Amino acid sequence: MTAIIQVESVSKSFPSGDSLCYALKDISFSISSGESVAIVGPSGSGKSTLLSVLAGLDSVTTGTIDVAGYRLSEMSESKIAAVRARLMGFVFQSYRLIPSLTALENVQLPLELLKESNTRPKAEAILSSMGLSSRLDHYPAQLSGGEQQRVAIARAIVHSPHIIFADEPTGNLDSETGSLVTDLLFEKARSCTLVLVTHDPKIAGATARQLHIQDGHLVRH
Ligand code: ADP
Ligand code: MG
Repeated sequence: MTAIIQVESVSKSFPSGDSLCYALKDISFSISSGESVAIVGPSGSGKSTLLSVLAGLDSVTTGTIDVAGYRLSEMSESKIAAVRARLMGFVFQSYRLIPSLTALENVQLPLELLKESNTRPKAEAILSSMGLSSRLDHYPAQLSGGEQQRVAIARAIVHSPHIIFADEPTGNLDSETGSLVTDLLFEKARSCTLVLVTHDPKIAGATARQLHIQDGHLVRH
């Protein structure tokens, strides 16, 4: 299988007083197209930082990141943003829906950004397929956590991205809602590459492969 994500000797440091704090240390691995991978490890080990640099949301200090043939680590922010809008979808622990937009408008947004026309039927169909047909015109504040995360998943997949990144998508949900949301995420991500950060061994076990991060090091993959 071809690698859709290729990470080579990546380190990421943050200034910390007079010295540097390394969040990622000399990490190399690749992810095949269509693979599902969990990033696991203790709190503060660098999982979110790794996800951020994979998606080009944050820069690396050294090393290279190639995603779908693009060398993100050498591209301008605006070019990365264009690649991200087309090829990637995101799900975060805190949902991150836009509060001033309805559920439907939140899901239409990625399509609007890609200048697609007729975005409403597509967004409506995807929300309905996730059991949210009666919530289209609700604002995020009017939705439960599980409903907000389902809207966020709809938003992440509506433009048929190649890669879905999810950072502890069930972290704010009770276990029953969490497993419902996880099932939906896996079902919807079936046709693309899924990279998810999780604390939950059950969710990690549902992916094809686990990357274990400890103190910024990739200790097992
Ligand atoms: P995890 O997601 O595994 O809990 P993070 O990737 O959020 O861990 O953080 C890894 C390490 O990098 C932590 O020590 C954290 O404090 C540090 N770190 C993350 N982001 C920043 C930042 N923007 N500035 C300074 N330090 C950061
Ligand atoms: Mg984190």
